[in-house]
Amino acid sequence: MNILIIGGAGYIGSHMLKQLSKAGNQVVVLDNLSTGFRELACYGQLVVGDLADTPLLERLFCEHQFDAVMHFAACSLVGESVNDPGKYYRNNVSNTLNLLDVMVRHHVRHFIFSSTAATFGEPEYTPIDEAHPQAPINPYGASKLMVERALQDYATAYGLNSVSLRYFNACGADPEGEIGECHDPETHLIPLILQAASGRRESITVFGRDYPTEDGTCIRDYIHIEDLCSAHALALQALVSGEKSGALGFNLGNGLGYSVQAVIDAVKEVVLQDGCHLIIEEGQRRVGDPAKLVADASRAKQELGWLPEYADLTTIIQHAWAWEKKLAKM
Ligand code: UDP
Repeated sequence: MNILIIGGAGYIGSHMLKQLSKAGNQVVVLDNLSTGFRELACYGQLVVGDLADTPLLERLFCEHQFDAVMHFAACSLVGESVNDPGKYYRNNVSNTLNLLDVMVRHHVRHFIFSSTAATFGEPEYTPIDEAHPQAPINPYGASKLMVERALQDYATAYGLNSVSLRYFNACGADPEGEIGECHDPETHLIPLILQAASGRRESITVFGRDYPTEDGTCIRDYIHIEDLCSAHALALQALVSGEKSGALGFNLGNGLGYSVQAVIDAVKEVVLQDGCHLIIEEGQRRVGDPAKLVADASRAKQELGWLPEYADLTTIIQHAWAWEKKLAKM
């Protein structure tokens, strides 16, 4: 297939790019490099540009006969979205509609969209399945839900078929060690702990120990980046084969919850083998953090035939640690 990957120089997009290229697809990456890195887009052709640039999109769609588009490019910091919602609605909603309209004009009918567990808001129950009400509590989640909603209408009116994949906590790195997670600033738990272990950061702060969980720290569902990407490939296959159509949504997670403390303990064991230690500090709760977010991903398993391969937390951490050591030049 001939696939356009928007945001293919970012963390998730670059792993998808590698997986799709290795499977024999032609891939073109469009990325404005605002948060992505040229070095991560190491397969296919990289076009540096922005989704707001309609003439550029038109040119790209004229030059390439794309069979499908995968869209990973988004602003994704919850705190920033609260302080600067305009940036989120413009980039995540308006620019995505721009892309969808170009797709419609060029009769490209298969679309895979990066959505998020943040579309659910404060959980009413866990594990969270697709029937859970979507009531986002921040502009980031709201911006993703707006696109999910628009996709339903684009399916009905224009026959644009899509799958929105709602990620829980994406983590880990390419098992071959070629690419991995790079955010600036980094805000995610696992890379932050690993940076504290490698010496690129002094310590890791636990954001609250007074949550209603067994050890008092928040519980999240950590899903390996490779598994996340394999779900995208299956979703695309289901659309292209005609097995699925319309605007569908699937939750992607392991269905296993690990507390912040459990993640720290697992990291300690892995990094100790390299003689590394961690300094842990205690902090206040981070605003907007629910106590427990765990996915029920049975629908993706049943309907897409998805089978996570790297569900084990230690494996996730080992892959992320190998990447961190490369960044820290250890
Ligand atoms: N967390 C933490 N210290 C940090 C960063 C994160 O204790 O320096 C906690 C955070 O409160 C949450 C969990 O780790 O409970 C996962 O946070 P992350 O930002 O990785 O992902 P999120 O669940 O917010 O998407």
